[in-house]
Amino acid sequence: MFSEIPHLLITKIGSTLHSIFMVSSSRHFLFYMLCYVLIALIIYLQSMRKEKADSFFSFLFPKNIYTHPSAYFDLKIWLVIIFVVHSGIYSMMFHVIYFATGLLNSLLDIFWNIPTDTSPPSITDRVIYTIVYTCCIDFGFFLMHYLQHKISWLWSFHKVHHSAEVLTPFTANRHHPVDYLIHAMSAFSMAAFATVIFSRHHGTEIDLLTLFNASAIHFFYYMSANMRHSHIWLSFGSLNRLFISPAMHQIHHSVAPQHYDRNFGFVFSIWDWIFRTRYLPDAKETVVVGLIGDEKGYNGIIDAMLKPFTESYQNIKSPQSWRRHQLKT
Ligand SMILES: [Zn+2]
Ligand SMILES: [Zn+2]
Repeated sequence: MFSEIPHLLITKIGSTLHSIFMVSSSRHFLFYMLCYVLIALIIYLQSMRKEKADSFFSFLFPKNIYTHPSAYFDLKIWLVIIFVVHSGIYSMMFHVIYFATGLLNSLLDIFWNIPTDTSPPSITDRVIYTIVYTCCIDFGFFLMHYLQHKISWLWSFHKVHHSAEVLTPFTANRHHPVDYLIHAMSAFSMAAFATVIFSRHHGTEIDLLTLFNASAIHFFYYMSANMRHSHIWLSFGSLNRLFISPAMHQIHHSVAPQHYDRNFGFVFSIWDWIFRTRYLPDAKETVVVGLIGDEKGYNGIIDAMLKPFTESYQNIKSPQSWRRHQLKT
């Protein structure tokens, strides 16, 4: 039995790496990583015209960022997240959502009959469904992200993400498992709600428009998503009014007072516009990232995993401190 352990371990590592780098719904899918390099190359070539630049390799992988302890810490936390995702805790979340959608369907049965004359959804139906589905999932992400910054006992977990002192594409995985789960739960619940409504309206299951097996809108989002956590400035110009550009997420991580609690969105920036938290950069800005005020980072991975629980519990105990206070820099 013990002789099978190395084989099982290799199979497990292989399937994990496959799901990270070879699946189009993963932000680190090799094609999206290639897009990261190509966009960086275009930005590098443009900057070469204005200033004397280093080699492309040192532009892409600045030593001070990729050898920073914070970048190593990102990888350690990522290992914990991978363990959570593959341990069944993550799939438990989908079971909860599946149960909730079943319950919702049963409730809707009372007053909303499924049409008997059902024809397959047209392409227009699928386009509308894809847009509504993406808006629902995106609003779910936005709303939970907004609350993670405003409610002290949620911030205790989200703070792990903001404790990053440099940004690399792998900082995207720097989340406390609780933060990761509640964030995903909020978004996928909203998406499941959209699916229930559309399926009932059409009387049959309706599929998203996909590109290489990923939702079409998210496929385009992921092409530049790895730049959100990076040192490379990429703004969408006037399209920032509709979409959150990588530069806008870097501003979300900034310690500058004018950037504080801005740009909570993921795909669309309209939620930030509605909630008056949108910050549109006019030009390239210098962004210093990390925690602000007297907030402290973590002494190692165990501290980062356990401290949020104690901090969160202290905040839950006294409801008057539920509202996270504006910190002074
Ligand atoms: Zn945040
Ligand atoms: Zn981030």
